[in-house]
Amino acid sequence: MFNIRTRIKELLSMEPQGQDITVMGWVRTFRNNQFIALNDGSTNNNLQVVLELGKFDEDTLKRITTSASLKVSGKLVASLGKGQKMDLQAETLEILGDSDSEVYPLQPKKHSLEFLREIAHLRFRTNTFGSVFRVRHALAFAVHQFFNEKGFVYMHTPIITASDAEGAGEMFKVTTLPFDQTPRNEDGTVNYSEDFFGRATNLTVSGQLEGELGATAFGEIYTFGPTFRAENSNTARHLAEFWMIEPEMAFFDLEDNMNLAEEFIRYIIKYVMEKNREDLEFLAQRLADEEKQLPQDKRSEMGLIEKLEFVLNNNFERLTYTDAIEILRESNHNKKKKFQYPITGWGMDLQSEHERYLVEKHFKKPVILYNYPAAIKAFYMRQNEDGKTVAAMDILAPGIGEIVGGSQREERFENLTARMKEMHIPEEELWWYLDTRRFGTVPHAGFGLGFERMVQFVTGMTNIRDVIAFPRTPKNAEF
Ligand code: ATP
Ligand code: MN
Repeated sequence: MFNIRTRIKELLSMEPQGQDITVMGWVRTFRNNQFIALNDGSTNNNLQVVLELGKFDEDTLKRITTSASLKVSGKLVASLGKGQKMDLQAETLEILGDSDSEVYPLQPKKHSLEFLREIAHLRFRTNTFGSVFRVRHALAFAVHQFFNEKGFVYMHTPIITASDAEGAGEMFKVTTLPFDQTPRNEDGTVNYSEDFFGRATNLTVSGQLEGELGATAFGEIYTFGPTFRAENSNTARHLAEFWMIEPEMAFFDLEDNMNLAEEFIRYIIKYVMEKNREDLEFLAQRLADEEKQLPQDKRSEMGLIEKLEFVLNNNFERLTYTDAIEILRESNHNKKKKFQYPITGWGMDLQSEHERYLVEKHFKKPVILYNYPAAIKAFYMRQNEDGKTVAAMDILAPGIGEIVGGSQREERFENLTARMKEMHIPEEELWWYLDTRRFGTVPHAGFGLGFERMVQFVTGMTNIRDVIAFPRTPKNAEF
């Protein structure tokens, strides 16, 4: 058996008493032919391995280079040096894998995030990405724990779908038809009956419609899976492939929906605050250092941890779209024509600069906007009594903008089909969806939380490409 080792994170919390320990990991640095900083990915903190002078031969010492992998056994003793509490006094040392430090791209110095994106296959070995991806893991775990504790059923909705009616974004086609000799109908359109599924299919943009089928049977479900959008938006918060969490609840109205979303966001933040304190502290320091290079007015008012604590301790501001438009219209920012898109009035879609103004300048806290104009929202959102708005809600977070989009769903068959007709969505395509309204329809609601945006919020990473292992964005699918 090979896998007998102590993880460095666990080891660093032990009292050094000369106990026999085996560790395995990768060399971060090696000084004076004596001191190895060894990292195994369980924490950013390295273990100092001390090699007694003369105990290991020259050849072995030469092979201890940055990123070489080692197995070391020895005694855990109190450190004589300052900077660390304990050392591993090496008795045996085995090089598991050599690493040519001449060509190894990660040197023990600060690299830019842009450079690290070019070597995304190795960037997990840096402190920043170590912390980001441990936090990402913890958030994902907390998501499941939250819904499991609440009795929700985890539902796997399909990745390949035939419905293109949802309208959440541009879709990627899934096909095995040849490009050069595409089978055609008489009118020149592609003959999808010869395609793999016998019809046109796409990668999903959202699991919501299928989620509603689950909710109207189990009561409460959630999905947590990849979604795809072929939108050509090269921003710091859009990916072509991202992960979304979509709870869907029967017997919920819009307010219940907002309450659940707030509780959920707090729960997962609290979880990482407890479990990943060290990583968050590292990321907070990283962010503070990064912001030092910005002009004063571009820096965050709160540190990362302070911000997360603030979210735990303060309710989100809730206001209607209509009130938000008034605030924006009356703002000095608008009067001084500082918005790129001026506030033209009720009915306009809000741009991210408007959302960020509300959150970062006006309220200085997360905001839930609700009751949006029907015209700018999806067909399935519940029509309000006023005949103009729908029971939609978006949650806007400081530094990110929209993090959640949700609504109470239109459960009334007649209202839903009338709206579909207005929006030219053929009923035949969604016959299965409409069945939920035919057979025991119930008030229900749900929302979608973009997981990467949540990870951005918690880690303070400004670019969404730095919180997913291998980002897919326009013109980029390396690795
Ligand atoms: P945006 O206006 O920011 O493009 P959206 O209105 O298209 O968002 P929804 O369709 O409501 O977003 O999707 C639900 C959630 O999924 C959003 O609140 C956001 O957190 C996330 N999301 C949407 N598009 C993307 C994307 N391209 N990359 C990463 N996350 C996304
Ligand atoms: Mn979008």
